[in-house]
Amino acid sequence: MGLESFTRDDPIFIDESVFRDNYRPTELIERDDELAAYQSALRPVINGAPPKNIFIYGQTGVGKTLATRLVTDRLLEDQRQYSDLNIKQITLNCKSVNSSYQVAVNLVNKFREPDDYIPSTGYPPTRIYQMLWQHLNDLEASHLLIVLDEIDSIGADGEILYEIPRANDNDHVEDTYVGVIGISNDFTFRDSLSARVKDSLCDEELHFPPYDANNLRHILSRRAEKGYHNGVLEDGVIPLCAARAANESGSARMALKLLYKAGDLARQRDEPTVKESHVDEARKLIEEGKIKDELARLPIHSKLTLRAITNLSKVDETPAKRRKIYSLYLELCKEFATDPVTDRTIHDRISQLRQKGFVEAEEKNEGLSGGSYNLYDLKIRVDAVDEALNLEA
Ligand code: ADP
Ligand code: MG
Repeated sequence: MGLESFTRDDPIFIDESVFRDNYRPTELIERDDELAAYQSALRPVINGAPPKNIFIYGQTGVGKTLATRLVTDRLLEDQRQYSDLNIKQITLNCKSVNSSYQVAVNLVNKFREPDDYIPSTGYPPTRIYQMLWQHLNDLEASHLLIVLDEIDSIGADGEILYEIPRANDNDHVEDTYVGVIGISNDFTFRDSLSARVKDSLCDEELHFPPYDANNLRHILSRRAEKGYHNGVLEDGVIPLCAARAANESGSARMALKLLYKAGDLARQRDEPTVKESHVDEARKLIEEGKIKDELARLPIHSKLTLRAITNLSKVDETPAKRRKIYSLYLELCKEFATDPVTDRTIHDRISQLRQKGFVEAEEKNEGLSGGSYNLYDLKIRVDAVDEALNLEA
């Protein structure tokens, strides 16, 4: 039959873009208390006073980024009625940035044209901060809010979270009040910061708890009205997506993904309605996709270790001792022209693979004389590894 023609009618979705990650809803449902707290933390700004520094935390998918966008958009809009205010805002997502230094470099570049960007290595840190202060002093603004999203990815190195909130107090920046809004997906991040950083960053802390099934039902229903044709979703579908997501993570992102994927499956199969069975299937597919992504992101020596265990498993030689895994790993290193790391390091890598649920261990005890040792085996399907790890020699 070959290719089918592209047609415009979609019996399932009115507008599937509302389920995509880059869709920007105009309201935050079921978060009135958090919004009120957020607005109250920003109130000094509208009164012309220096901003408080705000630290927001909660797991992924609980509305932190969306809340921040809605609240700061509103602030920028509402300031227009006050002629003494000129509030500006910049946002940096720190996901792929892993040190204070790089945050500072990225911030400097926010104020520059692309041909004037500074490189991400090379300057001494003090020089980078000087450039940053210079840009902030050149800015014509009464206030500057610097939003650092997913800030936990800078790890324990919180220098920037000390420097920026102190920019006015330390006389680095004069005519513009500077405030930081730090957003973290990781609960432990705040505690990992040193006392002086905590002190300067966390004037106000806002916690976004996970959504419960009720919250998620509302969020999904509202989105479904925009995305799905009337009557296409069978009654149990939204409650099921909400219950699953509430159970596993409390994440609206996950719930929306599930609802979208379920519809996508119904559409692929030319079925007129979305059923609970589509949700179950969608969940499986999403889970598999996650494993695949995680496998693909493993560092090279973890991949080679996993490949060694997988190859042993294919010839029924698992569970295997570490010595056996290591010697196969050494062969693979040769094959892929990679310098091997030590047996000890591979031991750590295997522990990480266990933590991620890719490998399992069984402890063997040889009694008084033999001591104890582990036997390792693959915990996921061999083809999952084969699909995700297409290492090229
Ligand atoms: P976080 O930053 O906490 O990881 P986001 O703000 O990015 O979460 O939200 C994740 C997804 O869920 C986004 O697509 C967002 O549109 C949606 N979402 C989260 N909370 C709500 C809510 N209360 N109302 C509507 N949509 C929401
Ligand atoms: Mg976010």
